[in-house]
Amino acid sequence: MSFELREVALVYPSRAGAVRALDGVTLAIAGGERVALLGPSGAGKSSLLKLFNATARPTAGAIRFEGRRLAALAGSDLRAVRRRIGTVFQQPSLVPSLTALQNALCGHLGSWSLARSLRALLAAAPSDTRVALAALKTVGLLDKAAARADELSGGQQQRVAIARVLVQDPEVVLTDEPFASLDPGLTAQLADLLLHVAQGRTLIAALHDVELALAHFPRIVGLRGGRVAFDAKAAEVSPQMLRELYAHEARGAVG
Ligand code: ADP
Repeated sequence: MSFELREVALVYPSRAGAVRALDGVTLAIAGGERVALLGPSGAGKSSLLKLFNATARPTAGAIRFEGRRLAALAGSDLRAVRRRIGTVFQQPSLVPSLTALQNALCGHLGSWSLARSLRALLAAAPSDTRVALAALKTVGLLDKAAARADELSGGQQQRVAIARVLVQDPEVVLTDEPFASLDPGLTAQLADLLLHVAQGRTLIAALHDVELALAHFPRIVGLRGGRVAFDAKAAEVSPQMLRELYAHEARGAVG
């Protein structure tokens, strides 16, 4: 089992009053599963991903990764777990002044000491460079290895972010609406690439593209108002379930 969540709540403190982003979420995700998270904006998808990659801790309930409670981990144990979980964000979050190759090499940073990281960015060892170049080749960007990240298009930057995850070589890949800012043609290409890269790994993706989710993800978790609205095989997700998932709040309140 990769992840187990029991009655998880996540509450953000805010000046306008606390925001309950997740509430009573119980979920288990096995190693190697492909799960799409669907739901309207504000449903709690990003918050759930933050719990999975241990950048947020539940306010109540527990999340376990391979049986270990994430909230109980600190220091090198926490870093060790984070290394095994790679995330591709909506914005590629590259270092703009570094080359595509150097950004891909950053996939190693979680497992390197600061000194080694600095050395690597200045003059990477040939074996590390080979791994990063192979990753750039996989994402079709070998010819851009020496280009600065800020000279690349949005789609190319997202490819570098995927290459960085390949270099990290995690067991779990999380993605948070990775194609939201790309045009539809690019989305299809990058989705194929991401699915290819995630082969043999657990993949959990927050997606706004319902068709893409149903076509490529065997399991769909629908989130609404911080709760699991449904957790079903893609083939069992009906148009009615999707209508209710995305229904306007006002209608939900009346119904
Ligand atoms: P989704 O990814 O489905 O759009 P989020 O997890 O981003 O949903 O947000 C869930 C809820 O938590 C929303 O109401 C959002 O406004 C709120 N939220 C998210 N992040 C924060 C934060 N850092 N501080 C306060 N509220 C937040």
